[in-house]
Amino acid sequence: MLLKHTTSEIKERSALTVNPAKTCQPIGAMYASLGIHGCLPHSHGSQGCYAYHRSALTRHYKEPVMAATSAFTEGASVFGGQANLLQAIDNMFTVYNPDIIAVHTTCLSETIGDDIPQIVKKAEADGKIPEGKYVIHANTPSYVGSHVTGFSNMCKSMVDYFSESNGHKSKTINLIPGYVEPSDMEEIRRIASEMKLKTIMFPDTSGVLNGPMTGRFKMYPDGGVTIDQLKQTGSGMGTVAMGRLASMAAARALDNKCKVPCEIIDLPIGLHGTDAFIDTLRHIAGVNVPDSLTFERGQMVDIISDMHQYFYGKRVGLVGDPDQLLALTKFLVSLDMHPVYIVTGTPAGKKYEKALREVVKDVPGEVKISVPGDMYLFHQWIKQEPVDLLIGNSYVKYIAKDDDIPYVRYGFPILDRVGHSYFPTVGYKGGMRLLEKILDALLDRQDRDATDINMELVM
Ligand code: SF4
Repeated sequence: MLLKHTTSEIKERSALTVNPAKTCQPIGAMYASLGIHGCLPHSHGSQGCYAYHRSALTRHYKEPVMAATSAFTEGASVFGGQANLLQAIDNMFTVYNPDIIAVHTTCLSETIGDDIPQIVKKAEADGKIPEGKYVIHANTPSYVGSHVTGFSNMCKSMVDYFSESNGHKSKTINLIPGYVEPSDMEEIRRIASEMKLKTIMFPDTSGVLNGPMTGRFKMYPDGGVTIDQLKQTGSGMGTVAMGRLASMAAARALDNKCKVPCEIIDLPIGLHGTDAFIDTLRHIAGVNVPDSLTFERGQMVDIISDMHQYFYGKRVGLVGDPDQLLALTKFLVSLDMHPVYIVTGTPAGKKYEKALREVVKDVPGEVKISVPGDMYLFHQWIKQEPVDLLIGNSYVKYIAKDDDIPYVRYGFPILDRVGHSYFPTVGYKGGMRLLEKILDALLDRQDRDATDINMELVM
C-alpha cells in the first residue's frame, strides 16, 4: 500500500508538509478566469507551471482547458519576464482573439518581481491590445496561500478592473459563488431565479467547464460572466458572497469601490446553509420565498428524517477547502454525525479555526482540527482512532483504502471520477444528493460486511 509507512506515533513537525491538502494559487486563479466569457487565462511563468495548472483543471473537469503561458526560460529568470509577456499578449490577440486575457503570476515571476500593471501599460502603449479588448491580472505567488487564495485574488481583480457605478442602484444582486463546481454555480443561479431575482454571478464557470458535447470545438464556450455584466456589478443593490476565504475580498472591494453593500455567508451546503442563502436573498430583495423552494426544502427534511437513524453518532474525518469544510461540518453536525478530524491545507487564519471549533463544540469527545494541516497528520489521527466515514478529494482514497474506511469524494481535486461537475451539492437539491452519497457509502459497507445470515434486503 502506498501509505503503509504512516505511523500512529505523532512527532512535532514544523518544517515539513507531507501530502498537502491544497494545490497552488495559479490553479484557482485560472479556474476563476475561465468563469469570464471569452477569456484566455495566461500563466506568467515557465511552461512547467502552466502545464501543471492546466492539467490539474483538465483532470478534475474532464474538459479541455484553454490557457497560455509566458514560457519563461533561463533568460527570463535573469532579465525578467517583460519581453515574454509583451510577445505573448501580441500572439494571443493575433492568433486566438480572446475578449480578455487574465494574467496570473507564478512563484518564479513573483520572485523576479515582474510589475504586471506596468507591462500591461507598455503593451497598451505599443498597440498590442486591440480596441475593446482587455488584459487584467492577479498576483498569485504560490509560496503563500493555496488555490483558494488564487481564486479569491482573481475575483477581486475582476472588481478592481471592471466594476463601476453609474450613479443609480439597479435591482440586480451580485452573487460571488466561491470555489465550487460549475454545477453548483448553476444551482445557485437557479435558486435565485426561482425567487424571480435578477442576478449577476461572477465568476461563472457553468457552461464553460461542464458544457455539452456538440461535435464542434469552441475555444470560448457560451458560459461565463460578460465584461458588460462585470461593469454593472458596481450598480447592484447588494452582493451575496459565499465563503469568506474565496469570496469576501471581492465583495469588500466592491463595497469600497462602488458602495454596494455585501453579505458574507457560508456556502449554501445543507439545510441550514441553504436556508441562510435564501433568507439573505429574501432580505436584500424584499421578496417572498416561492412555494417551489419550500417544496424542495420539505423533500430534504423528509429525506433527512428517513436517513437519520443511519447517520446518528457516526464519526467522520474531513479534508478539503476551508469554506466547504465549515459549511459541510455544520451540515454533518445538524445530522447528529460527529466530525472528529478536520484538515485543510489552506492557511485560513485563527478566526476561521475559532468558527470551526464553535460548530463542533457539542460533538462528544475530542475533535482534532488542523488549519493549515496535511493529510499525513490526518492519517495518523485515523491510525490512532478510526472513523466511520471519510469525506475529501481524490487523495483521500489512499487513506480510505489503507484503513478500509467508507469514503465520499468531495471537493477539489477529484481526479478519478466523472460527473461531479454536472450535479450540484449546494442548495436543497444538492444537499439531497450529498445525503444520498453519504448513506450509500455507509450502507454499501454494511452490506459488504454482512454475513449470509444478517444480510438485510430492507434497510
Ligand atoms: S512553481 Fe509555484 S506556481 Fe509553479 S506549479 Fe509550483 S507552486 Fe505552482
